[in-house]
Amino acid sequence: MAGMLYLVPTPIGNLGDISPRCRETLEAADFIAAEDTRVTLKLLNHLGIKKSLVSYYEHNKAFKGNVILDRILAGETCALVSDAGSPAISDPGEDLVKQCAEAGITVCAIPGPCAVITALSISGQATGRFCFEGFLSTAKKSRREHLESLTGETRTMVFYEAPHKLLNTLEDMAAVFGADRPVSLCRELTKLHEEVIRTTLGQAAAKYAETPPKGEFVLVVAGAPVCKKETATSEDAAELVARLMEQGLSRKDAVRQAAAELDLPKNVVYEAALTIE
Ligand code: SAM
Repeated sequence: MAGMLYLVPTPIGNLGDISPRCRETLEAADFIAAEDTRVTLKLLNHLGIKKSLVSYYEHNKAFKGNVILDRILAGETCALVSDAGSPAISDPGEDLVKQCAEAGITVCAIPGPCAVITALSISGQATGRFCFEGFLSTAKKSRREHLESLTGETRTMVFYEAPHKLLNTLEDMAAVFGADRPVSLCRELTKLHEEVIRTTLGQAAAKYAETPPKGEFVLVVAGAPVCKKETATSEDAAELVARLMEQGLSRKDAVRQAAAELDLPKNVVYEAALTIE
């Protein structure tokens, strides 16, 4: 019988954030696949766990993915960890999960520390609807293209960023989204020097032009303001309700959201929505 793949989140700074279930899973696994075996060895030493480690990272994932898959198919249980946080979110684990799922192997994700969610929750930005944009490209042209594709994005946007690229990114974001767009810079989360700077893109760029940034960052950028139609009609309302329902909202929620977005009374939108099949 095939084994299983466990996705085991590890602390993004504070070692106390490892959960009992994660610890037990690491102990029980036949082997651990790690992005950087030195980083994981430190964690295992802290936890007092001795376990066979296999390295699995960006530049060996094509070959090592098959080796790991064969071991799981032969009945072994693998725990996958990244350097920090939840495996498979902006790290090569994504490919291993896909490979295992395609081979019919059971994948079990254990909830735990994750930089995107930790930053979003502390950001003070709207959290009801958000999109995660991961890392931007290091190449200026594709970074700009990525940002330009988001100019109409009204949801809160979350980005991962390395300190040496932060200033360029903030300058590009200010140019594309506007210098006044609110941003929360979430730095060194769960660590001794944790800091959340709630400011604007222009001010953040000016700050880091003077003092180079240090540490790990997640940027939580406010979405574009929703443009309300001045004179929305019943047809507009019906169209928007239909679109929202296609996106998975119930009729009631779609009516509520369309009324808010179009600044129309709810009963008017409700009447209009009755024309939808
Ligand atoms: N898979 C991990 C997760 O989602 O939790 C993240 C992996 S990604 C390769 C690493 C990025 O996560 C960093 O460049 C930074 O943007 C963010 N990050 C990780 N730990 C952080 C921390 N303690 N504080 C702020 N950002 C952090």
